[in-house]
Amino acid sequence: MDIQHIVVIGAGTMGHGIAGQAARVGYTVTLVDVDNTRVIGGLDAIGRIYAKGVARQKMTEAEAEQGRSRLKGSTNLGAAVASADLVIEAVPEHMELKRSLFGQIDAAAPDHAILASNTSSLPITEIASATTRAPRVLGMHFFNPVAVMPLLELVRGEFTDPAVMAAARAVGERLGKTCIEVADAPGFATSRLGIALGNEAMRMFEEGVASAEDIDKAMTLGYRHPIGPLALTDLVGLDVRLAITEHLHREIGSDTFRPPRILKRMVRAGKLGRKTGQGFYTYD
Ligand code: NAD
Repeated sequence: MDIQHIVVIGAGTMGHGIAGQAARVGYTVTLVDVDNTRVIGGLDAIGRIYAKGVARQKMTEAEAEQGRSRLKGSTNLGAAVASADLVIEAVPEHMELKRSLFGQIDAAAPDHAILASNTSSLPITEIASATTRAPRVLGMHFFNPVAVMPLLELVRGEFTDPAVMAAARAVGERLGKTCIEVADAPGFATSRLGIALGNEAMRMFEEGVASAEDIDKAMTLGYRHPIGPLALTDLVGLDVRLAITEHLHREIGSDTFRPPRILKRMVRAGKLGRKTGQGFYTYD
């Protein structure tokens, strides 16, 4: 499977990160969003990621320029996916939205195209059932920030063709990622473990066990986690984490995944973490 053109749907936190990394390593990339200001914002954010890469001598100015030249933005989903070899969807974590989008992508993309979702927790098999090509659908779960995080979790749906898993692994490796392969279980490996820790940290904060800083230090200094669970929740986005834990609670039933009250309250108040400047911490 010769993959040259990657179309990324959703220009938010994850979409622009995936698109920037793919263009950087040599793929032709189209970044699509329903909202043109998000497309422009995504392309600008990629420019900033490249500039930081150049400043830190992780890439040269020439590589940054080549990366930018392989990238374009669009709000026309049908036209963008018509020449796609691989489509990676990164829109909000809602099943009906993802299913409706996969139906549209399936109708417009060439038969050979592989369709991937960056979902953090939703069943790939259910997303794939909105298409006529379930064997060519899988999960490609990247981590934030995409340019930095070394993991790619590949999720095998009930009907995913092993050759499609192998093609996605080859793309992941070219993107510089180490791949793990997991079955289509709720929350896969990463979100299930990460949400369990994050939820407990939020409940402890709400109960006044310790300050946000000290709860995070318990894990960074005591357990060598690179980032504490509350700072990580801010980085991922509180709305994103709420949607994931609601899904895991429905699927698994365990109280571990019952959404913490404080998480619901903060999301209702628009305190979504870094992207809004306020979460468990305050950002400029
Ligand atoms: P986000 O809210 O930052 O971005 C989503 C983007 O999708 C927005 O720009 C929005 O305009 C766009 N969008 C909405 N509907 C669309 C449509 N029909 N067509 C095209 N674009 C559309 O979300 P995010 O944090 O990037 O998360 C995206 C996905 O990635 C979710 O499934 C999430 O669970 C997953 N994920 C997130 C993280 C994280 O750290 N934020 C990490 C791994 C996986």
